[in-house]
Amino acid sequence: MRRLWMTGFIAGALLLGLSYARQRLGDPADLVLVDGQVLTLDAADTVAQAVAITKGVIVAVGTNAEVRSRIGPSTRVIDLGGRSVTPGLIDSHVHFNMPSGESVNLGDEDVRSMKDVLDRVAAQVKNARPGEWIRGIGWDEGKLAERRYITAADLDTVSPDNPVWLTHTTNHYGVGNSAALKLAGITSDTRDPAAGTIDRDAKGNPTGVLKESAQQLVTSRIPPLSARQQKQGIVQLMKEFNREGMTGAKDPGIGDQKWNLYQEILKEGQLTVRIFALWSGGRSLSATKQLIERVSMRPHPPSSPSDGLVIFGGVKMFMDGSGGARTAWMYDDWNKNSTEKDTGNAGYPVMPPDEYRESVKLLHNAGLHISTHAIGDRAIDWVVDSYDQALTAKPTRGLRHGIIHANTPTNHAIDVMVRLQRDHDAGYPESQATFLWWLGDNYTANLGPQRSARLKPFRTFMEKGVHWAGGSDYSVAPFPARYSLWASVARTTLNGTYGAQPFGTRESVDVKTALRAQTIWAAHQMFLDDRIGSIEIGKEADIAVWEQDLLRAPVNVLKDLKCVLTLLKGNIVYRDTQRLP
Ligand SMILES: [Zn+2]
Repeated sequence: MRRLWMTGFIAGALLLGLSYARQRLGDPADLVLVDGQVLTLDAADTVAQAVAITKGVIVAVGTNAEVRSRIGPSTRVIDLGGRSVTPGLIDSHVHFNMPSGESVNLGDEDVRSMKDVLDRVAAQVKNARPGEWIRGIGWDEGKLAERRYITAADLDTVSPDNPVWLTHTTNHYGVGNSAALKLAGITSDTRDPAAGTIDRDAKGNPTGVLKESAQQLVTSRIPPLSARQQKQGIVQLMKEFNREGMTGAKDPGIGDQKWNLYQEILKEGQLTVRIFALWSGGRSLSATKQLIERVSMRPHPPSSPSDGLVIFGGVKMFMDGSGGARTAWMYDDWNKNSTEKDTGNAGYPVMPPDEYRESVKLLHNAGLHISTHAIGDRAIDWVVDSYDQALTAKPTRGLRHGIIHANTPTNHAIDVMVRLQRDHDAGYPESQATFLWWLGDNYTANLGPQRSARLKPFRTFMEKGVHWAGGSDYSVAPFPARYSLWASVARTTLNGTYGAQPFGTRESVDVKTALRAQTIWAAHQMFLDDRIGSIEIGKEADIAVWEQDLLRAPVNVLKDLKCVLTLLKGNIVYRDTQRLP
């Protein structure tokens, strides 16, 4: 017994000696962060004190003493003063555009009534040329005192001549004024287009609100932003991401034009957020076939030769609509005002379900990663079952097909996710905890009390071993990842219209789990988990430093986390020089 113990002791001492020697022999690093609380998010959930980085790659993680051995004469050393350190945060679902200065922004907490909306529109109309379009984004009737849609009649009072189009915060509906409806040729005789709704008053006249595909009747008339305006918006948003400790984004539904903008930004050295882009999929089988012809020749995951900065990732599909507009595809009718029934409305698929299923098969067989927007329980079931069938017919490990939003999955859907993740490395929810807060009042009104408890079931995911990737769906909800970390724990709505926590806290998770969803699990959905997403030797140094202690902060402090330093591949892309001089 004693001898065994001695042998173990000697072996241990030898090992320690060896690792010590390796540390000592290591070359001096370019950058060393010391005296931090480093949440590495490695498999063992190690908390370290210091990190050394050379040529953008992490070369040492450990105690201050261990890592200090990598400090040489030209090493840059930053003393973190005990602050928390995490991997750079990743948004697994973000429409990576910043509204241009010409848009009316209705998506902040100061817009509380119809008057606030109309004042902002009126201010824009005052500066507009005759006939010029007034564009706006971010409105949400759930946040207005009146708690009703904006209508054409409202907008006509401030813009009788200029056409106005205001996109709802969910992007699934919007409202135009009478001038806009006239340009689009919409009258009481206009029929609803396929997979769309023209909202009408009791007399059958259009109210100005257009849902899902009906929006295009108006939006197709609006001149697009110039490439220069778009590019400015992307670069601006990258900077804002870095201020929030964010270094990665999965951008769903782009096309050639935006891809080219990303390439330009990369070439010009302005790219400070890794981009994993999904191409916009079609809404029919023939569109899917055309898309496969156009994109399948591009290098794509899982075998991508890319530098890991701008990645063509696969294809974004749509199964249904929105939980705000009550167009998402459900088994049971939607509610309204929490307890009333929206009788006869259980939403609808936005693509013929059989054509969707066949499209999944073709995309999967072409070796392309797919992520599908699915909000309603029926839509989610259809999507996971489609993945299941495609994978059974052609088992291919590691395509990591995603379920975007996955708001209220059934037990069946969760069980299929478990199986797909285990057997095929596929079937991952790409989910937005921020919705619970930002859209929560509207969501609970539409889901009703019973279904509300099933919204974003993160704890159930955890218990069953389902990994998911966190995100914001910006501009649907604000992008800072701290909101999503906080909401994963707190599950509180913005206004508390139906009580502060209408979704309950049964599905709350702790901050460490929430962090995983926004780091290593999100990196996995960008096919970058071998390069980023945790702080480990050999990984690229995407790192964020926080003013607050993430593990000891009271829940509500998470909402206001302050980032003080952000690294992308070891380069400082943001530093708060006041707090961290
Ligand atoms: Zn989206």
